[in-house]
Amino acid sequence: MDIIAHGVYNIALQRTIKKDKKTRKEILTAFWWGIMPDLLAFGIPFISAIFVGSLNHHQNIGGFDLASTVYPYTHSLVIFSLVFLAIYAVRRKWYLPMLGWGFHVLLDIPFHTPEFYPTPFLFPLSSYTLPFGISWGTPVVWIAIWVVVLLWLGILYKQRNNKSL
Ligand SMILES: [Zn+2]
Repeated sequence: MDIIAHGVYNIALQRTIKKDKKTRKEILTAFWWGIMPDLLAFGIPFISAIFVGSLNHHQNIGGFDLASTVYPYTHSLVIFSLVFLAIYAVRRKWYLPMLGWGFHVLLDIPFHTPEFYPTPFLFPLSSYTLPFGISWGTPVVWIAIWVVVLLWLGILYKQRNNKSL
């Protein structure tokens, strides 16, 4: 899914979980956890590509494709769950904004084709990925993804306004 949509989906999710008004910091934190899996997988190679002077972020550095190496780690429900539980164990309190990471992976599973970064959600236990999927980049799908999240935010906004009347 497009990276900005991922961020906005987690803002909607966080608002749904806790209905109170969000501060700017909370909104930015939700956005960060929504985009983090792609930002780390593609951002690090992208920045290094700028230094190398090539804008192809699927570059190989000494035969090492950074994006495909990082991608399974940030797109695994297994790794997400372990980190989420580890943080709970330390804080003794759920760190809910991080649910955006798991939500990102769940949304990527159906919206990637097997040909383009299928989601290895069971990594490192299994390299299984769905044998089918519809690309988020297909115009009608891309529009539908945005319509759904904007409607979702609209409903939340309306609920909050109704309550404050
Ligand atoms: Zn992703």
